[in-house]
Amino acid sequence: MAGNKLNIEGVMLFEQPFTRVPYENYRKVFRTSQKQIEKELSAVQLSASDLLKKSQTAGSERKADDSVKAIDAMIARIETLKRKLSDLHDSTGHPTLTVLRERTQHLAAVEALQNEADPEFSRWADTRLDRWLVDWSLRTGREGTARQITQDRGIEKLVDIELFTEIRRIEEALKRRSCTEALAWCSENKAALRKIKNPLEFELRFQEFIELARALKQDDAIAYQKKYLLGWQDTHLPQITQASALLAVPPARAFGPYKWLYDPLRWTTLVESFRLSIYNLSTLPTEPLLHLGMYAGLASLKLPACYNHETKNADCPVCDPSLGHLATDVPFSHHVNSTIVCRLTGRIIDENNSPLAFPASGQIYSREALEDMAAKNDGIVTCPRSNERIPFEDLRKVYIS
Ligand SMILES: [Zn+2]
Repeated sequence: MAGNKLNIEGVMLFEQPFTRVPYENYRKVFRTSQKQIEKELSAVQLSASDLLKKSQTAGSERKADDSVKAIDAMIARIETLKRKLSDLHDSTGHPTLTVLRERTQHLAAVEALQNEADPEFSRWADTRLDRWLVDWSLRTGREGTARQITQDRGIEKLVDIELFTEIRRIEEALKRRSCTEALAWCSENKAALRKIKNPLEFELRFQEFIELARALKQDDAIAYQKKYLLGWQDTHLPQITQASALLAVPPARAFGPYKWLYDPLRWTTLVESFRLSIYNLSTLPTEPLLHLGMYAGLASLKLPACYNHETKNADCPVCDPSLGHLATDVPFSHHVNSTIVCRLTGRIIDENNSPLAFPASGQIYSREALEDMAAKNDGIVTCPRSNERIPFEDLRKVYIS
């Protein structure tokens, strides 16, 4: 089989989150190291200039002793820094880099392939399917299944189980009505969230404010508003104004928009906002990758006939009720030359497998199917829809124009 030229761009369209997740993880490691280096080096610089100043004033034996002590302290600081950085590299940096390297190699491997018929490609696509199944399992709360597939296939470095474990941990905290964990996540990703203008942190702060208002802790609420909400004035002034007004409306007398602010359903909205934010940051689509992959396939098969009870085909994936449901929003396929599929065998009817019609009912099936039927029934064929029974020879040839 010749096969088609591999559409690398099409393949890569799905792969952005595949490298983005470890990249974001490594960015965090890098930021942590950078902060520690800056902190320690500025301390060392400060003691160095301090030392310089002291040496310029008239010296004595005692001062030399102090200088040695100060230099020892500086050396100790740098040694601690070195140890901290090395620990960070071993515990997080190196494993993250390994993941990044392995994923880049995985993508490079498919880029080197030319043809879809290459057996290497089908092996690669099998691994991709495994990755997508893990992604689907993780998104639908089937962590055990995800871990099992990962272990069986040895694809630990190609899937993001830890990311989803973190998502679950933070979401469960939100369901217990605690913003602490989600706020910690916001602070870890502050710069990146600001860059994409993500308002999750404000939403969480606002909720904490609402909880203080609910508990009638007016003073605490005012202090909280000053500390955490006022900084968002440029983008969230209406909500901040609403927050001030909320203090005059206790939960028991809440009406209109204030009733909604006290609504416990807001916590469910926060869970959704959090999930959207973390997906957004990792460039993960909001739907499972498996679905996106299937949409592409379903769009190439979907026909109006798939949704008509009369014309369903047992071998067509879109005709299957659950896959058909998934294909609801997918466009119909546009066949330049329409394809006729035999309803008995599911095979394509063409010049090699020509169509034959029952003369009275006009029902059409493939030659292969009817020959097979005739062979099993002493030369008699029966139309499963109209129950028309005739000898094989009486079938009419149909020409596709
Ligand atoms: Zn169909």
